[in-house]
Amino acid sequence: MELFWHRRDLRVADNVGLAAATGARDDDRGPAAPVFVFDPDVLDHASDVRVRRLLDGLAALRADYRDRGSDLLVARGDPETVLPELAGALDADRVVWNRDYSGLARERDASVRTALNDAGIDREAHHDAVLHTPDSIRTNAGDPYSVYTYYWKKWTGRETDAPAPTPEASDLVDADALATTVGGDGGALADGGGRPDGGVEADRVAVGDLPSPADLGFAEPDADIGAAGTEAARDRLDAFLSEAVFSYDAERDYPAREATSRMSAFLKYGEIGVREVYEATERATAAAEERTAKDDEAADGDGGGSDSDDDEGGPVAAVEEYQQQLAWREFYAQVLFHNPEVVTENYKTYEEGIAWRDDAEEIAAWKRGETGYPIVDAGMRQLREEAFMHNRVRMIVASFLTKDLLADWRHGYEHFRETLADHDTANDNGGWQWAASTGTDAQPYFRIFNPMTQGERYDPEAEYITEYVPELRGLDADLIHEWHELSPTQRANAAPEYPSPIVDHSERREEALAMYKRARGED
Ligand code: FAD
Repeated sequence: MELFWHRRDLRVADNVGLAAATGARDDDRGPAAPVFVFDPDVLDHASDVRVRRLLDGLAALRADYRDRGSDLLVARGDPETVLPELAGALDADRVVWNRDYSGLARERDASVRTALNDAGIDREAHHDAVLHTPDSIRTNAGDPYSVYTYYWKKWTGRETDAPAPTPEASDLVDADALATTVGGDGGALADGGGRPDGGVEADRVAVGDLPSPADLGFAEPDADIGAAGTEAARDRLDAFLSEAVFSYDAERDYPAREATSRMSAFLKYGEIGVREVYEATERATAAAEERTAKDDEAADGDGGGSDSDDDEGGPVAAVEEYQQQLAWREFYAQVLFHNPEVVTENYKTYEEGIAWRDDAEEIAAWKRGETGYPIVDAGMRQLREEAFMHNRVRMIVASFLTKDLLADWRHGYEHFRETLADHDTANDNGGWQWAASTGTDAQPYFRIFNPMTQGERYDPEAEYITEYVPELRGLDADLIHEWHELSPTQRANAAPEYPSPIVDHSERREEALAMYKRARGED
């Protein structure tokens, strides 16, 4: 028997480590017992939103195991202690897991490895979270990439693994056997028998019994965080790949349109495997090629239009643009893997250091969505209501915090970490350092988004804005996009409840340029 340790891979299907441990891939192995461990160190860095999202994902995972006659073991405590103990109680030969590439996770995994070694238990770690491992794509000189475009060139077209096989009931330890061994009356761990010293953690292992957020010291979040689990992920992906993906390139920047896949939280918790997602995009490419061929035929029949292969964009290019986003996720995973310090430090060093203004009141107004810049406020309120924000708007609010409020990107990162359901250390950090011009492949410091023109361009009818900023409903879109230019009287007449801009964009733009120039030693 083997013990499979779930972490950021809350799924049964296309799970490389689980397929190995259960014998779904190799008949000589398995069956396996799956466990999730609530680690106090991880909980220390969690938030209400993410704990709720995690519990929903675990409930869905448990249901998938129960459908197969098994169950999910749920433990609480330091994995270094819990795992050897549990493996001992189950008489497991080996503990298996999938790798996590962040610095903290790697430290934790190293101490778990040592503890298992000391206990004489075998262990095995697999690559699962990405299509191409952080070490596998390097420059010709052998260095990790710091420029996405070059990374993408190597990423695309590389051979990818097929989805890992899904375990069947016979590959898993059945629920009754789990209950007898670890839980209920007389279970080996429940009575403290798992450890010679009485087993402090032993009574914290349960079969399928999930805690509530309050049990873990968290509150129910106010945000409506949406469905979790593999089935929900697949439904969402299928819907996206059946239509929206074919115009993804043209539509993805418009937050009022349902144009993106909303896969981020599913991928973050590993409720869907990236191989499965990628394979589905390859099918979408085939469908896009068919569409293109039909369009070309129709155009020929009409007496010759242009060949759509020559057109800019088109469905094939749109699917590729979607695949490029999956590559961004892997690009940032490898940035974090090779540079674990970026979680708290600028990737790019500045000669003089950046002298952030860090005005507490301005930062608080940004968090509340009360800056008087409509697109920024809409984004911050979407975040509060849905624990999600559209990508274009994330870029706008991040630029606003760093280049209009001149606040350190770490304030924004911390706030996103607290409030996003899809918070992912690598992507969140990559996004913030991009916006702050401190990252690997960052926006140059002198390219500063104008929040009003961004709003006008990507939300021309102000549909997104008015969805989240009710004070502006009923106003002409033009008036909304000119909010910063209106006089105080005009603003008071138009939307008395909505704030005036807390800063002047043009002035702050100049200050930001000066701030970065000083930091670069250029003034
Ligand atoms: P889609 O457009 O459908 O993209 C598909 C998938 O590709 C996403 O689910 C995601 O896994 C990946 N992806 C897309 N864009 C990016 C990107 N720029 N960088 C890395 N991966 C990407 N993404 C997160 O998953 N977690 C975060 O914590 C996060 N924080 C961000 C913070 C900032 C300041 C910025 C600018 C971006 C951040 N992103 C983050 C990236 C991006 O905004 C989200 O992945 C995207 O909005 C999720 O929506 P979607 O699933 O509909 O995306």
